[in-house]
Amino acid sequence: MTIHSTGPLRGGVLLVRIKKAAVIGAGVMGASIAGHLANAGIRTVLLDIVPKELTEKEKAKGLTLNDKVVRNRIARNGKERLYKEKPSPIFHKKTADLIEVGNLEDDLEKLGEVDWIIEAIIENLKIKQGLFEKVENVWKPGTLVSSNTSGISIHDMVEGRSAEFRSHFMGTHFFNPPRYMKLLEIIPTKDTDERFVNGMKAFAESVLGKGVVNAKDTPNFIANRIGVYGLQITFQKMLRDGLGPDEVDSITGRAMGRPKSATFRTLDLVGLDTFVHVSDNVRENVQDPNEKKVFEVPELLREMVEKGQLGAKSGEGFFKKVKSDKGKEILVLDPKTKEYRSRKKLKAPSLEMAKRAKSMKEQLRALVYADDTAGRFAWYIAKKVLLYSAERIPEIADDIVSVDQAMRWGFNWDLGPFEFWDAIGVEKSVARMKEEGETIPPLVEELLASGSKSFYKKTEDASKAFHIGGHYQTVDEHPKTIDLARLKEQGRVIRSNKGASLIDIGDDVACLEFHSPKNAIAADIIQMIHTSVKEVSANYRGLVIGNQGANFCVGANLMFILMEAQDQNWPELDLMVRQFQKAMGSLRYVDKPVVAAPFNMTLGGGVEASLPCDRIQASSELYMGLVETGVGLIPGGGGNKEMLLRWMDGVDPKERISLQPLVNHVFETIAMAKVSTSAVEARDYKFLRREDGITMNADHLLYDAKQQVLALDASGYQPPQPKKIPVVGETGYNTLRLGAYGMLQSGYISEHDYKIAGKLAYVLAGGEVPEGTLVDEQYLLDIEREAFLSLAGEPKSQQRMQHMLTKNKPLRN
Ligand code: NAD
Repeated sequence: MTIHSTGPLRGGVLLVRIKKAAVIGAGVMGASIAGHLANAGIRTVLLDIVPKELTEKEKAKGLTLNDKVVRNRIARNGKERLYKEKPSPIFHKKTADLIEVGNLEDDLEKLGEVDWIIEAIIENLKIKQGLFEKVENVWKPGTLVSSNTSGISIHDMVEGRSAEFRSHFMGTHFFNPPRYMKLLEIIPTKDTDERFVNGMKAFAESVLGKGVVNAKDTPNFIANRIGVYGLQITFQKMLRDGLGPDEVDSITGRAMGRPKSATFRTLDLVGLDTFVHVSDNVRENVQDPNEKKVFEVPELLREMVEKGQLGAKSGEGFFKKVKSDKGKEILVLDPKTKEYRSRKKLKAPSLEMAKRAKSMKEQLRALVYADDTAGRFAWYIAKKVLLYSAERIPEIADDIVSVDQAMRWGFNWDLGPFEFWDAIGVEKSVARMKEEGETIPPLVEELLASGSKSFYKKTEDASKAFHIGGHYQTVDEHPKTIDLARLKEQGRVIRSNKGASLIDIGDDVACLEFHSPKNAIAADIIQMIHTSVKEVSANYRGLVIGNQGANFCVGANLMFILMEAQDQNWPELDLMVRQFQKAMGSLRYVDKPVVAAPFNMTLGGGVEASLPCDRIQASSELYMGLVETGVGLIPGGGGNKEMLLRWMDGVDPKERISLQPLVNHVFETIAMAKVSTSAVEARDYKFLRREDGITMNADHLLYDAKQQVLALDASGYQPPQPKKIPVVGETGYNTLRLGAYGMLQSGYISEHDYKIAGKLAYVLAGGEVPEGTLVDEQYLLDIEREAFLSLAGEPKSQQRMQHMLTKNKPLRN
């Protein structure tokens, strides 16, 4: 590991650079942690034990236990799973090339060549201790070592190891699946060098994209301690109230600001055996008899595990998918009869009210204070989890922020317990808890005694959290944070309308934020693009296009297109498409640098708004695609032209190279509505170019995009010059159509797909001009618009749009 004592990133934090790592244990977690390290570009050695027996296949091949391919089998299988698992643990199939497999007998010395060793083997103290003893023999000072244990004491694991080794050792607890779960709990021991802890935190945040929480070396650390408590309380209450898992899930999911998988589907996903294991670990290690009792696994759960009803991995748990006369059906386990039955939803007025609420605060209050089955259930669960969380401070964490972050990032709750408490009102809820005979933890009593009414409060420029000892502390913020909501509160809005705002994000850079429903592009956003371009050209150094919604942009507003098309309002639709094209063009040619910062779903118009920008700074989680054919259209905002420009970039029309293969790529990408599964894959489609950047931590995305703007500005930015584009013309058009015809003949595509493909081919070929003709951008935009409008008039395209709007999935007609 390279530790640079120069340039502290944040008060006294050293820069930890991990160039090469090793993961020991290639099971569920180890393999996917290795996968995620590879996602971050880190070369990784993945080791596991040597198998004791040959498989039938190995025997048939005449292999012996001494053959390398057998000896590395467990680690290799772990690596191979990375290609198959869905959702994929890796960004790109090539990502796994960075992983080298080996075994713990032949390859131990390789641990001496890495900067970080992560242990992710079987959850057993003795075995882990034995492993660290072996590791120390080959370990070199400067290499960090950590364990991914879910709950074993970090301190105990390295008992007997040298003081120097222990100073490099800590817990790094990833959540499953590591690529997608944001939380990483870092657990130092009293012997860990604080500089390594801080360095690891900074590295994990920036390079691995994690949300890091410092946890204490207590049973199951923070998230699993609180999370498992909540699951147990819910389970036990369900049994007492005689409800079913399906009914409880209608209360404890979205209605309570938790994931859709709520309680029992979450348990099925985690695996009931894993849950029992984690729960037992707390029961065995906590001292308080009342607390022990809560972590006692209900008989029903033990029985299910014994019967192999482990959840998703065994095909049945609380839920089970079966084939019935209705097609596929999901059944639920009835806790009384222990048989599977059809699912039913709990109906309660409070659930309806919660659904209609305009804010999270209104939603939670509507539910937990309601006097009906759902309301009483939700209140009880919330009350217990809130009290338990407050009681655990400072045992598991010194501050409430770590607990809230751990629950948001590790369990996907919308609000952590203390944020939840603020939302339902601390005074009001505590009064009711007291009426119900609950003991109120000192932290909460202190808060109310101080005259304050909430755990968090906002000041002009910071957020503060109530701290043990009776005072508020400023919530530590990463220096790469840009919080658009806060900037708006601070009056930094330059221009705004219903669909978008232009916000001053400092250093003379502005950010164009979409905030329409689903960030779909309609006339208001187009107008704000025009406004932003003018404003930035006159008064700013450059523009970032980015937002902090759930997705960057799901495309153009289909409802508008469909309505205008159904009313045959062609002049109106033509005008809108023209303005869309013009707006996108202005992003390309404005005299200031423009950087798009797409993330998550970036579809159709969202892609078209990104492509003309000088740079894209993308979140590594980028699901980007021109998906218009799915709704019976083709891109209409310049997407075809931009894709041609990208693929033709660097082609010299005087050199007689064949343009057809390049156009074929564009055609395939758009006709088949290809969507990238990561930013790395988006490069294959040339949605991203070599000079575009990728940010691993979505919270840093706007900051990184702003840095790109500043760098372009500082290096004397000049806008690009309009280009003439060589096209394949009539010959290429026929070639593309012939390919599509083949697909029609062999039944891969429908007649209507073929029609759309024909229009797309015409646009991408540049119309029926001679091959090699140089056309200008406006010509391509004109034929694109014509094709778009003619498809919008097709009844089958309108059916596709209708279907997408009502069913939220494409119709193939
Ligand atoms: P797993 O059973 O999938 O994998 C464990 C690996 O350890 C296997 O590949 C096995 O071959 C290897 N192993 C077995 N005996 C060994 C030995 N004597 N020496 C070295 N390796 C040995 O388990 P997992 O779910 O990947 O869990 C690994 C670690 O991560 C555990 O400490 C677990 O508590 C923790 N963890 C698991 C999850 C989860 O959701 N599964 C989440 C966070 C942390």
